[in-house]
Amino acid sequence: MIHLGLIGYPLSHSLSPRIHEAAFTALALQGEYLLYPVAPGKIDGLAALARHMRDGEIQGLNVTIPYKQTIMSLLDELTPSAQAIGAVNTLYLQEGKLIGHNTDAAGFLADLTKFLREPVGEKKALVLGAGGAARAVVYALLKDGWQVNLAVRRADLSQANALIEAFEPQAGSRSMDLELLEAGDLERLGSGIRVIINATPIGMFPETGFSPWPSGLPFPKEAAFYDLVYNPYQTRLVREAQAAGLRSTTGLGMLVEQAALSFACWTGQDAPREVLRAAVKA
Ligand code: NAP
Repeated sequence: MIHLGLIGYPLSHSLSPRIHEAAFTALALQGEYLLYPVAPGKIDGLAALARHMRDGEIQGLNVTIPYKQTIMSLLDELTPSAQAIGAVNTLYLQEGKLIGHNTDAAGFLADLTKFLREPVGEKKALVLGAGGAARAVVYALLKDGWQVNLAVRRADLSQANALIEAFEPQAGSRSMDLELLEAGDLERLGSGIRVIINATPIGMFPETGFSPWPSGLPFPKEAAFYDLVYNPYQTRLVREAQAAGLRSTTGLGMLVEQAALSFACWTGQDAPREVLRAAVKA
């Protein structure tokens, strides 16, 4: 019996149990995926779960908001992606060491590649937002050779500047790979942008009437839209981009990919993505 689970708070709306239970069934494995809500102020709960992993009682854990950073102090090692992104979403035990890993970046890139279908000419992307998800997205894009532009709304640029500083070494000598844009600059990006990624929560349930794209600003021609938000199934951004004749998707595929990558870390098995996707949609 394989014991897996998710640490975070709140967790009642999590889709992760459905995805992992579908993976167990599809691969004919005996296992369970439980929710471990740890209320803020009850941080001892995190240490107890880390102990259960070291004892071998739990074989794998996902970590979500608000503990993706907090958990790090309880671990022995971080993988390069978790280290660079500054967040852990997967815990596994390797040779007695508790390892913190991040599958969001690889999950995003895998799904983006599927979504774009064929290699794009100039790899130029625009990322909206500079929070935790944006860090995983920027890490993945830079690793895959994209030029990344970042757009944020906050007048205080400390969060965006921290992201840029963290990834400048990876952007390497091509120092313009990572550029901070003010809202008014979006227009001048023009048609060179191939993909625009919403890494903000704008449009997410229950505030589904909003879009992160500035109203009145035309969509860049030939851009595709990848919205990390996956609840609702179709966000306003995705609907409006489609109505303008542009390809667009929500982040359900990324959710499935990051889960499947975590599952592979724990079990060594590759779960069929279509089965997992169908389980979430249901
Ligand atoms: P986060 O750390 O709170 O960061 C959110 C970012 O969005 C911040 O830069 C924030 O800037 C910005 N933002 C928030 N409200 C905004 C608004 N009204 N206008 C413009 N910018 C705004 O959140 P996160 O963890 O990065 O998550 C972002 C979204 O990605 C969530 O909806 C999450 O569900 C989704 N996500 C999806 C997947 C997937 O598998 N598909 C994985 C991870 C995350 P300010 O601080 O200035 O507001």
